[in-house]
Amino acid sequence: MNNIPGMNVVVVGAGIVGASVAYHLSCQGAQVTIVEAGHVASGVTSTSFAWINTTYSDADPAAALRAAAVSDYRRLEAQLPDLHIQWTGSLTYGLPEVPAAPATGRGISTVSRAQILTLEPNLKHPPAQANHSPEEGALNAVAATWALIKGAQAQGARLLEQTQVEGFTGTADKVSGVKTTHGVIDADLVVLAAGTGTTLLTDMLGYPLALDASPAIYIRYHSPPHLVRGIIYNAAMEVRHADDSSLLAAEDYLDDAADHQPNVIALRTAEAIRAELHGVVSLDVEQACVGFRPIPKDGAPLVGFLPGISGVYVCVMHPGVTLAATVGRLVGMEITRGTPSPDLEPCRLGRFRR
Ligand SMILES: Cc1cc2nc3c(=O)[nH]c(=O)nc-3n(C[C@H](O)[C@H](O)[C@H](O)COP(=O)(O)OP(=O)(O)OC[C@H]3O[C@@H](n4cnc5c(N)ncnc54)[C@H](O)[C@@H]3O)c2cc1C
Repeated sequence: MNNIPGMNVVVVGAGIVGASVAYHLSCQGAQVTIVEAGHVASGVTSTSFAWINTTYSDADPAAALRAAAVSDYRRLEAQLPDLHIQWTGSLTYGLPEVPAAPATGRGISTVSRAQILTLEPNLKHPPAQANHSPEEGALNAVAATWALIKGAQAQGARLLEQTQVEGFTGTADKVSGVKTTHGVIDADLVVLAAGTGTTLLTDMLGYPLALDASPAIYIRYHSPPHLVRGIIYNAAMEVRHADDSSLLAAEDYLDDAADHQPNVIALRTAEAIRAELHGVVSLDVEQACVGFRPIPKDGAPLVGFLPGISGVYVCVMHPGVTLAATVGRLVGMEITRGTPSPDLEPCRLGRFRR
């Protein structure tokens, strides 16, 4: 597999992760075919809050990947004319999982109440202090996925939408292509970037993946503009403006009870936002739905060759928007150059079988 110029790679899944892998592989000279069961960004990418969230604890196995996310997205912005990122920064406070004191090297600082009000003048209850990450941003995940796909196509990649992978060709220990609803596609390597759908595909190869489909609620409100300037995440709300000025929110999924349905949660969240912010004259729910995040059982990304079966590579993770640019770059390099990336070592699949 080492250093094959023009190697044929099938990337399964055109969410933001598959699109980034396809783009970076294409730039490295691979002949890429992207195979997507629905249409581009029709999976969980379409309902992402899409915060490039680089905060991590020192124990986070994906720390090196998160730390590189901002510089990789800035590189992509320079390379891809259609990629636009809202570099607004974020404010987080009042959350048990957010460290009170910033660690070094992450661009996070602690800001006072006065500074918080300068950053977010509409906050009704600014805390005494908050974590401020001025380097962070957010994006329109569907538009960003398209920007990556177009970038891949400009390098010769082929996109097949409405084409589902239903099986594999080859032998028990070597995959040589995929069987799709529109026929067989031969490949030197098949990259599975199918989000929560990846489990079904590895099951077909007799390799159960330690991956959960974890629900979360995505809400989009028609709102007055400029309610917030950046991303605010506190105990009451996680909000930001989208690029069309509607207000986005993300909420935990609780269960299927009637008063926990997405539209009910969206109305309750609107009340919470009203209680937190000045200027909320109207907040009408445009969309409220559940998205299923592909979350590996130990939280770390699953990235690497499928143990025991050659010709298959897996790339699935949460938070996929944050990590897509960096992981795409590293995956592109290790597949085309044949040199394993040390930053991807904590992500290997074999860790579950040790
Ligand atoms: C409410 C909410 C908020 C979130 N907020 C954030 C955030 O702030 N920051 C962040 O980084 N992440 C966030 N996430 C998570 C993030 O959206 C996901 O991690 C990311 O979008 C995953 O992208 P993906 O490309 O792996 O998966 P997907 O977007 O699901 O793409 C997989 C694609 O594979 C296709 N596919 C599946 N099976 C097959 C098959 N057999 N054949 C062909 N195609 C197939 C699917 O149709 C799909 O299009 C959030 C998610 C939710 C729901």
